[in-house]
This record gives sequence, structure tokens and C-alpha cells, in this order.
Amino acid sequence: RRPYSDEVKRAQTQSVATPGPTIFDKILSREIPADIIYEDDLCLAFNDVAPQAPVHFLVIPKRRIPRLQDAEESDKEVIVYLLELLGHLMSVARALAAPRAPLGWRLVVNNGRAGAQSVYHLHLHVLGGGRWAGRPG
Ligand code: IMP
Repeated sequence: RRPYSDEVKRAQTQSVATPGPTIFDKILSREIPADIIYEDDLCLAFNDVAPQAPVHFLVIPKRRIPRLQDAEESDKEVIVYLLELLGHLMSVARALAAPRAPLGWRLVVNNGRAGAQSVYHLHLHVLGGGRWAGRPG
């Protein structure tokens, strides 16, 4: 088991950090327009501005989590919240994908520079409607 000081250090460096806002914050605040297809208390879904498949939308949490890698906490209650949030995003993606791409779809999360992530606000790509349903990144 790691020493306590290590745990604290880890929590400080890997907690759900919030660096600068991204274009998705501006979409969330309606500062810039987006083709929004769904919204609830926890998330927003909108069509990708540069679709790579006939159906290509993004599901993002309202809370700014830069990368999936950052969705980690040491505080027990926050862990539960994050797990519920991540599950919710996937559940919303599924519900929105079903009628839009009934033949099948892909769920993609790009993480970090080498993972082809360009917007540092966690998002799920949902791609469908085509034979291969695109390959973002
Ligand atoms: P990433 O490469 O996984 O970070 O994906 C970012 C995605 O956001 C790309 O597919 C972009 O086309 C998309 N995107 C960037 N800006 C906007 C926007 O203003 N509206 C909708 N989608 C956007």
C-alpha cells in the first residue's frame, strides 16, 4: 500500500483539474451555437461540427473534466459521483444512438495528445450510420 503522503500528492495532481475553458464551455453556456440534440443536469449532446460518419455526435459532461484520464479522485464520495457520471454519459450515448443509427455505432474517447484528443473537455464520440462509422482523430 502506498504511503499516505503519496496518496495526497496523487489526489492533488490527478484530481479533476480544471484548466482553461474550451470551446465546449462556450457551447454549454450558449456563447457559441451548436446543434444540440439532448441536455440534462449532467450532460449535453450535440452534433459534431466536422462529422466523420453520417451520424456523429458528442456527449459531454457539464462538469469540466479535461481527459478521461482525469476522471479520478481519492475522495470516496467523489469517486461514486464520477462513476455515476461516466455511466450516465455512456447511457445517454446509447439512448441517443439507438434511433439514429439502428444498424450499429461506435463509441470513441480520445485521450491526450498521443490519443488524438484536440478539445480538453471529456467527450464521447458516437459514430454511426455508415459502413465503418468513421474514425475520429
Ligand atoms: P477530439 O479530437 O476527440 O478532441 O474531438 C473533438 C471534436 O470536437 C472533433 O470531432 C471536432 O470536430 C469537434 N468540435 C470542435 N469544435 C466544435 C464545435 O464548435 N461544435 C461541434 N463540434 C466541435
